Amino acid sequence: MDEPDIKTLLATDRALVWHPYGAMPGALEPLLVTGASGVRLEVALPDGTRTELIDGMSSWWAAIHGYRHPALDAAVRDQLGRMAHVMFGGLTHRTAIELAARLVELTPGPLRHVFLADSGSVSVEVAIKMCLQYWQSVGRPGKRRLLTWRGGYHGDTFHPMSVCDPEGGMHSLWRGVLPEQVFAEAPPDGFESEPSTAYVTHLADLMERHADELAAVIVEPVVQGAGGMRFHSPGYLRTLRELCDEHDVLLVFDEIATGFGRTGTLFAAEHAAIAPDVMCVGKALTGGYLTMAAALCTSRVAEGISRGEVPVLAHGPTFMGNPLAASVALASIDLLLDPTARGGVPWQADIARLEAQLRSGLAPGRALAGVKDVRVLGGIGVLQLDRPVDIAAATRAAVRRGVWIRPFRDLIYTMPPYITGDGDLATICGALLDAAADSTAANS
Ligand code: PLP
Repeated sequence: MDEPDIKTLLATDRALVWHPYGAMPGALEPLLVTGASGVRLEVALPDGTRTELIDGMSSWWAAIHGYRHPALDAAVRDQLGRMAHVMFGGLTHRTAIELAARLVELTPGPLRHVFLADSGSVSVEVAIKMCLQYWQSVGRPGKRRLLTWRGGYHGDTFHPMSVCDPEGGMHSLWRGVLPEQVFAEAPPDGFESEPSTAYVTHLADLMERHADELAAVIVEPVVQGAGGMRFHSPGYLRTLRELCDEHDVLLVFDEIATGFGRTGTLFAAEHAAIAPDVMCVGKALTGGYLTMAAALCTSRVAEGISRGEVPVLAHGPTFMGNPLAASVALASIDLLLDPTARGGVPWQADIARLEAQLRSGLAPGRALAGVKDVRVLGGIGVLQLDRPVDIAAATRAAVRRGVWIRPFRDLIYTMPPYITGDGDLATICGALLDAAADSTAANS
């Protein structure tokens, strides 16, 4: 692609195309990606030169095996040879059936039924609909509110937005539009910290006060991602499970960001050794190839709904169970779980390696001016600054190092593909440190 083409494309992009969380036209010009392979993005710069960037983001935490993986490419091609899509109402197909069976096999035991949705947000919508409809069906229609803790993120459609952090989710903009949910304080920081008795009491008080109107508690287990990249003790998940059982409230885990190994267990629920009643997965489900998510539920929830006055779950996206997405999801799961296909390295060893490298590589951040906290869990490394990141300065610094990252708020972080090699991880860590330093310099 030559120089005028790139400039024209970017001008058209700016004039016509909305980007995530963007204004029209956008404030910052996006980089033009022309290809991707392994952990590298190929980028065409406006001056006509090309460069490669190591992807520190796994395309928003999804591309865990990197790009153009032969096994995943083959799965899509193979499925394309049979059919790209077919409606799911009244019809079914082997790939979706096998994917559902695989998800039931891998997720916590009581989760037995699978709704294949077409994005993470939609799977959260479905999860919430399941919970509200369950109580409606069993004759307790007053139970229709949700409890969550502050600092969460569950997607951008309206019901998921209602359980996002009230400030991060801009609830003031949507007052009167969003359903008003019950918010606990954000869980205290620290994956390894002992659960705080005061916080457990706070959760118990809220649950007791609102039990009669609560359909479900919904949280991201262990890691609050887009709401602030914060980690909490799995002990609070056990507390929520006990309180939900005590007060007859359903428990929903949103594992869209944490699922498929990112925190060191296949699902974050395993850190607490408990099972939710409903669970959402997405993002890494398809190895970042195609859009698909799922809401899984227990037989209690499914049977409750199906015995109700309206004995169906009224949800059915056009692209539900899309065969291409289902086939690459199956291939991605196989690739994750088969050490032979991963060059003899079990995924757990890869996550442990990422964690160790991120810990040592980001540790110098503690001595940097403007860095408030450095934290790492599994394949997640975070530098939290003492003020909002200067996104342009931070991005420029990372790109100079040959790395792609996408900071937000006061956070500069990485969630690299699991296959990222040690040299590339060191470069990513260096880029995060440079990004923090340049952001602080630009802000002072
Ligand atoms: N839930 C969590 C925990 C997420 O991190 C996200 C996306 O970042 C979503 C839900 C929304 O998923 P999607 O962007 O696929 O709609």
